Amino acid sequence: MAEMKYATLYNGEAIPVLGLGTWDIGGGMSADRSRDAQAKQALRDAIEIGYTHFDTAEAYGGGHTEELVGEVLAGYHRESFFITTKVSPSHLRYRDVLRALEGSLKRLKMDYVDLYLIHWPNRQIPLEETFQALNQLVERGSVGYVGVSNFSVELLRQSQALSATPVLTNQVPYSVRDREYVQNGVLGYCQANGILLTAYSPLKRGVLSDPTVRRVAARHGATPAQVALSWLVRQTNVITIPKSSNRNRLAENYAALDLELTAEDMDSLDRAA
Ligand code: NAP
Repeated sequence: MAEMKYATLYNGEAIPVLGLGTWDIGGGMSADRSRDAQAKQALRDAIEIGYTHFDTAEAYGGGHTEELVGEVLAGYHRESFFITTKVSPSHLRYRDVLRALEGSLKRLKMDYVDLYLIHWPNRQIPLEETFQALNQLVERGSVGYVGVSNFSVELLRQSQALSATPVLTNQVPYSVRDREYVQNGVLGYCQANGILLTAYSPLKRGVLSDPTVRRVAARHGATPAQVALSWLVRQTNVITIPKSSNRNRLAENYAALDLELTAEDMDSLDRAA
């Protein structure tokens, strides 16, 4: 089994660089209970393989994804896991944030989450109000760290100025085939300011059929997914959260941690987009 690698956080604690995404486990924008047995098996498989970092959101499966994660993880020691969930953009008023976390904790059957993110910005609601609630949750111990998602450099700066606790991460789309958040300066800003960039959708948008990815994979006897994930987590301050509900692909993605890309591989992948 591959050995997990960790990124060091601002307080010296560690976060697994590879987490499990859960979008579409238990439904998309609303609950789909028809595949619950399969979904729970996938989560158990992930834990057996070694995943300890899970990324979910109150919006996923209309709350049902959190329920499935909660049901499966309840059988294990809470402290062994790093759990991220997200507050929806319609819940960013002070009281709504507090209420949203309460709902998430109930569905997750947990008394705290490790990381709580603003899922998407909402320009109608002052960020000040949202961060006041988030920081209060940290003080109470219901949230370990706070962060944001889909934020520009401008919004990141505002967040940092407003938050009493450091902004741990900005979760954004980033892959060999998606450089939007490199081009808009977010990756550079995160690296210069000690903020983690959590890369979502690392395998989508034709990444797996990209010719450079495939060439590097063939050279290493690895799979395209392993190359795409290894390229991400070898970058400064970058971690990622691929989703799979298939045991073989969960194991395949986890084993990306063992793939040693050369400087030359990294260069050609950097230039691949
Ligand atoms: P992803 O992880 O890049 O791709 C998931 C898709 O790839 C699934 O269809 C999966 O199918 C397939 N797959 C996984 N491993 C594979 C492999 N080794 N070979 C071939 N196919 C493979 O995309 P994502 O789910 O959009 O992003 C990951 C996570 O990021 C999400 O689950 C969610 O937690 C988070 N996210 C956050 C936001 C946000 O706004 N903050 C937005 C999007 C996503 P199988 O399950 O059948 O393997």
